[in-house]
Amino acid sequence: MPLEVRVRFAPSPTGPLHIGGLRTAMYNYLFACQNNGAFVLRVEDTDRNRFVSGAEEYIQEALAWCGLTPDEGPEQGGPFGPYRQSERGDIYAKHIKVLLEKGRAYYAFDSADSLDRHRKDHEVKGKTFVYNWHNRLKLENSLSLDSTEVERRLSAGAPYVVRFKMFELNEEAEEYVVHDQIRGQIKTELRLLDDKILFKSDGMPTYHFANVVDDHLMEISHVIRGEEWLPSLPLHFRLYEAFGWTPPVFAHLPLILKPSGKGKLSKRDGDKLGFPVFPLEWKLTGASGYREQGYLPGAVTNFLAFLGWNPGTEEEFFDLKDLITSFDLARVHKAGARFDPDKNRWFNQQHIQKLPVDDWVKYCEKVLLDKNVSFDKKTLPQISALIQDRVVLTADIWEEIKVFFKAPEAYDEKSVKKVWKENTSDVMLSVCGVFEGGVFTEADDIKRALVGVAEEHQIGLGGVMAPLRLCLVGSLKGPDLMMLIKLIGTNTAAERIRHALASL
Ligand code: GLU
Repeated sequence: MPLEVRVRFAPSPTGPLHIGGLRTAMYNYLFACQNNGAFVLRVEDTDRNRFVSGAEEYIQEALAWCGLTPDEGPEQGGPFGPYRQSERGDIYAKHIKVLLEKGRAYYAFDSADSLDRHRKDHEVKGKTFVYNWHNRLKLENSLSLDSTEVERRLSAGAPYVVRFKMFELNEEAEEYVVHDQIRGQIKTELRLLDDKILFKSDGMPTYHFANVVDDHLMEISHVIRGEEWLPSLPLHFRLYEAFGWTPPVFAHLPLILKPSGKGKLSKRDGDKLGFPVFPLEWKLTGASGYREQGYLPGAVTNFLAFLGWNPGTEEEFFDLKDLITSFDLARVHKAGARFDPDKNRWFNQQHIQKLPVDDWVKYCEKVLLDKNVSFDKKTLPQISALIQDRVVLTADIWEEIKVFFKAPEAYDEKSVKKVWKENTSDVMLSVCGVFEGGVFTEADDIKRALVGVAEEHQIGLGGVMAPLRLCLVGSLKGPDLMMLIKLIGTNTAAERIRHALASL
């Protein structure tokens, strides 16, 4: 019977969720879905100094916006709760005792000052101070002090931490080898591995300890997380060994790189180049989000999926359902993935174009309601369809749709210079005459009438269309002109022409 797949996303609520974190959540979600497994959200909030209120809610909202709903979590509940580490204190206290009793962890009393001194002494000699097997007996801990002294200090309430005995003095191997699904074997020299702190003086577990204990107790089968946790992997494997537990499969995802390809993508890159690095706006600092900038959640998950994975075909358009079928952890690469804001805009445009018109109308309707513009429900689908392939971000909807509801407030000067000839006012007056004199219900009839005006003035059709567009739209851009006239009506079109003639 194959192992049940259980994966987790384990963010620390220290601020808004970076899109790199969102990608980690999504790869976990996809992997869970395609294996009929469970996707668990665990909030790693033991570091109270870094806790930011509102961050957990932000994470939940961002996951919900993208459709990455956890099966278990602080909100959802589940059989392995509580899912907030701050509520699991008893569990950690019980488990640290196990390691202390097994002799795999020890109390350390070294003050911050004395550790600092050791560090500096080593630096002067061009060495790095590593608290581990080679020097732990020379430091102040329950391995070097006699047991009565240790008891005395503990009962006197002396400050201490609990450290992990990473290796013994007499290990035979020189390096420790661990396995990662994406990177294969990873070897680390024993002398570089230190006795990490598992428990702090405030009685709280550190990330490493709580993380491993919880992954085991929550029966996590695969740990899929960012590359920044790779250096912790030897420690995590050793913790599993120390407890006598079977470790999960580990897969460390590649870094997301700056658009230049040099270095890790940071919030500063986003600020400098004008793109968000967060899924949603973070109100505390005013940092913008993809949602508020006008991205569809499906486009965000699509572009994030491609940062570290590709399907091996030319196909680039994937909605979340397609991703569940196509995503393959075995195809995730280890090289960093370059973030490309222009490509992300392209993805968004693709997703907008492929939205069913009924869904797209809702986006347009919301914009009109927000702008307090009255509209006809019957023609809105047609209008929405006309601008659908012109919009890159939903934030552009108003710019594109407003021509159907409002006369232009200004006329683009360059365009005026380009198309407004000596006889143009006369030509436009003729168009007005035609529009005011008849009833046009079809785009073809309007076109025929305009061809008539061009013939009357012995000019090409462009000599009518371009200035007419300028009068109706204010520039030479915009949706199909005949459809625009049909939808606003020839009377409104005539009014716009007269208004333009008065101001040009
Ligand atoms: N709390 C860690 C973080 O903030 C979790 C790392 C992991 O997935 O093990 O990313």
